Amino acid sequence: MSPTYDVIVIGLGGMGSAAAHHLSARGARVLGLEKFGPVHNRGSSHGGSRITRQSYFEDPAYVPLLLRAYELYEDLERATGRDIALLCGGVMVGRPDSWTVSGSLRSAREWDLPHEMLDAPEIRRRFPTLTPADDEVALYEAGTGLLRPENTVAAHLQLATRQGADLHFDEPMTRWEPYRDGVRVHTAENTYTAARLVVCPGAWAPRLLTDLGVPFTVERQVMYWFQPRNGIRPFLPEKHPVYVWEDASGVQVYGFPAIDGPDHGAKVAFFRKGRATTPETIDRTVHDDEVEAISDHLSGQVPDLPGTFLKAATCMYTTTPDEHFVIARHPAHPDSVTVACGFSGHGFKFVPVVGEILADLALTGTTAHPIGLFDPARPQARLRSSGDTPTAAAPARGART
Ligand SMILES: Cc1cc2nc3c(=O)[nH]c(=O)nc-3n(C[C@H](O)[C@H](O)[C@H](O)COP(=O)(O)OP(=O)(O)OC[C@H]3O[C@@H](n4cnc5c(N)ncnc54)[C@H](O)[C@@H]3O)c2cc1C
Repeated sequence: MSPTYDVIVIGLGGMGSAAAHHLSARGARVLGLEKFGPVHNRGSSHGGSRITRQSYFEDPAYVPLLLRAYELYEDLERATGRDIALLCGGVMVGRPDSWTVSGSLRSAREWDLPHEMLDAPEIRRRFPTLTPADDEVALYEAGTGLLRPENTVAAHLQLATRQGADLHFDEPMTRWEPYRDGVRVHTAENTYTAARLVVCPGAWAPRLLTDLGVPFTVERQVMYWFQPRNGIRPFLPEKHPVYVWEDASGVQVYGFPAIDGPDHGAKVAFFRKGRATTPETIDRTVHDDEVEAISDHLSGQVPDLPGTFLKAATCMYTTTPDEHFVIARHPAHPDSVTVACGFSGHGFKFVPVVGEILADLALTGTTAHPIGLFDPARPQARLRSSGDTPTAAAPARGART
């Protein structure tokens, strides 16, 4: 008996919804299983906005994937008519030798990406809400901007459904096993068979993908919305860039213009400064001392932003030891299972290209996209504590929190 589906996709968040779209667009019979409802706020793909940028300080190896992601985001908007990307320009701010500035410049030069370097007076002149110290500079990229995560997931789900994918919500996978040449997947209600499995579990990776041998850390992160002190006008996207700002101690803050009208303020957050948690035990309450900490931090950088605190929300990062992704055929089941996880707080801008890569890997076993950095067997992905030493040194960078 042949399997019911060509591919079963586990998790229909950012990555899984994109995989379901790209697989079904190629004519595969797809079943998507999601633990919660469509476009929910209990994983990693909610909160109204995500930064997208191309001069990528994390590593120049991401740039070709970003170039393709930009094209695919445009296709997605065109195909669904949804409001997804707003390229309002953005600045990467810090001292010239900071990871944020020097890494961005390295990628811009290596890939010949359009950019401008701004000194502190020029930053203040162009963007009066930002108050850099005299020794801080910025890389400005006109193509930087933001993406709407909920609209992105909804658009991918919409296209997948239109292309005939069966998407089952509130039906978590309980377990799976190899079955004939493919897989058998169990939920509380049903058992399904397929030739291939694609697993995109977000913060549930530590439980579902233990056998990858990657020690993922799930981190609780907080997003904050403030009503600016002197009104919303200077924070509108026509005037205000997206920013990532690294201070002298290596702490990064990032923020957005005010994109949702006068009552919703502007969003800001610490980058990669979360507490370890699990999806079952995460504290969803945001505490006063956390609001105070980000307000204090902003007083030296964007002093007009923390006027009135409006609201905050939690979200999860799933972080690998070297903060690079995991995208591969599963080493223990290379013919039938593909995985995408460990997006380490910077995956959203790649969502559509990850969908394309997962469709390549699941249907053909290989991809033309450069994904060597995301191999789960790389030594830097398998360090269990700071006492471990990789065979090749992890990339040097500023102090991290
Ligand atoms: C506060 C915050 C800010 C961020 N900012 C940025 C940014 O500015 N730029 C950027 O590029 N990235 C950013 N990111 C990172 C980015 O949002 C994530 O990398 C991305 O959303 C991860 O997508 P995912 O599909 O792996 O996870 P998710 O979207 O969480 O999807 C995983 C899905 O799997 C489902 N699932 C789990 N277990 C099962 C099961 N057993 N059966 C069925 N379904 C299951 C879950 O319910 C979930 O829907 C940010 C993340 C956070 C939290």
